[in-house]
Amino acid sequence: MRTPPVDVRDRPPYAVDQFRVKADYRSDLDGVLVPEGEIVSRIEGMADEISRVYRRRDGADLYALCVLKGAMRFFGALTPRLDLDRPFSEGVVRADRYVGGEGPSERAEVKWLEPDSIAGKDILVVEDVIDEGYTLATLLDQLANLDPNSVEVAVLFDKIARRQTAVDVAFTGFLIPDEFVVGYGLDYDERYRNLRHLGVLDEAVMRE
Ligand code: 5GP
Ligand code: MG
Repeated sequence: MRTPPVDVRDRPPYAVDQFRVKADYRSDLDGVLVPEGEIVSRIEGMADEISRVYRRRDGADLYALCVLKGAMRFFGALTPRLDLDRPFSEGVVRADRYVGGEGPSERAEVKWLEPDSIAGKDILVVEDVIDEGYTLATLLDQLANLDPNSVEVAVLFDKIARRQTAVDVAFTGFLIPDEFVVGYGLDYDERYRNLRHLGVLDEAVMRE
């Protein structure tokens, strides 16, 4: 029923100079893992699949929740392509494991959930990347306390080899290798979000 994610775990990255990449990003990248066009094509497939699933399912109004900031691009491409037969609304939330300058915690800090928008609705959580899984696990716990009708998760990129905690992801865009990736909304230290493709960040940049 569900379409499998696109698996790029064993696909070598493309050379950066095969693509148009901003000059000041070029030397920071080890390659382009997923070009923008492929990301958008896959998001179109995901939008069709999500629409099909909700059309077949009785339920409540659908509320799509964008996990800021990384999922901004994904969310902006996904939700206009949904074709639903039920009332639809959108919201944002922040979930951050990397707060206070300490190492990552097993709980994320979640901000801006709107209880009145969530109670009784079918919730579609839209996240950029799942890694160890703690961020989504925390968010799903907090959503469950707000009495939604249902909760599903759509994730664009899955670093599945790194998972530390089970998270049920209904819709996955790509399986990616265990590399630190930036672009298409994903940052390193707030940089690279406006890189159009998904790129592999050079480890030297993270050591600086
Ligand atoms: P998790 O809690 O699943 O380990 O981490 C998920 C969060 O960590 C993501 O929402 C994202 O903010 C960050 N993250 C994990 N891996 C990467 C990566 O490769 N690149 C970027 N930019 N962020 C990542
Ligand atoms: Mg995120």
